[in-house]
Amino acid sequence: MRVCLLASGSRGNSTLIEVDGCRLLIDAGLSGIETERRLSAVGLACDELHGILVTHEHHDHVGGIGPLARRHNLPVFIDRQTHAALPKLGNIDDLHHFSSGETFSLQNLSISPFSTTHDAINPVGFTIQSSEGKIGFATDLGIATRLVTEQLKNCRVLILEANHDEQMLQDGPYPWNLKQRIRSRHGHLSNSESCLLLEDISWSGLEAIFLAHLSEENNCPDLAVNTFRKTLTDCGHHPEIIIGRQNRASYCFEANLVKVS
Ligand SMILES: [Zn+2]
Ligand SMILES: [Zn+2]
Repeated sequence: MRVCLLASGSRGNSTLIEVDGCRLLIDAGLSGIETERRLSAVGLACDELHGILVTHEHHDHVGGIGPLARRHNLPVFIDRQTHAALPKLGNIDDLHHFSSGETFSLQNLSISPFSTTHDAINPVGFTIQSSEGKIGFATDLGIATRLVTEQLKNCRVLILEANHDEQMLQDGPYPWNLKQRIRSRHGHLSNSESCLLLEDISWSGLEAIFLAHLSEENNCPDLAVNTFRKTLTDCGHHPEIIIGRQNRASYCFEANLVKVS
């Protein structure tokens, strides 16, 4: 198992997940060329991917999908309404529609998209179940609904949104209406909101948590890590905490195959 945030933040998001012999991207918000460059920095070529999963239509998640899929003949998995909201995606030969709440298979993986309350047409997070355990992915969350909480239980690796520190957002430079949007149930999760979610889903089998979609203006990595570490310590769990970066790939979490019951 290998997980790496190739890019994370409001200027582009893409996550590499390699599990059970299957290599996937969740979102591709960088340019195609920059995605290829970051993949090669972790020793992979785009031709080695088995597909791209799409969470929602915002540009920071989809900008590179069309060029990558066409250049490397990659399958793209996307919600039907999200696809309809993306006329600029262009023609994709190998395109598959999914519906939130309906698990689908890719190679040996079971992939479950679940709905979130972010301000997009039909945004989703994912869980990916394999013989190597379960990975949970939830960024651009709006709020952590009960559905989200239930889906993310029993994961070996979590990728969770940690968008802003509430005080930094309040005191920061954003206009009032943008602050309101970020704080709303259709916006982004703060560090402390994400930690409340984590309290419900942390367990002894959690090996790594990635902090994703950090705001460059309204958060700072040390603050986010300290907030999460305190929550995890209070829960009695000690997974690796890995920060997603905007300008470079994150540290790669790598684990040997262990059957998780
Ligand atoms: Zn978004
Ligand atoms: Zn986003």
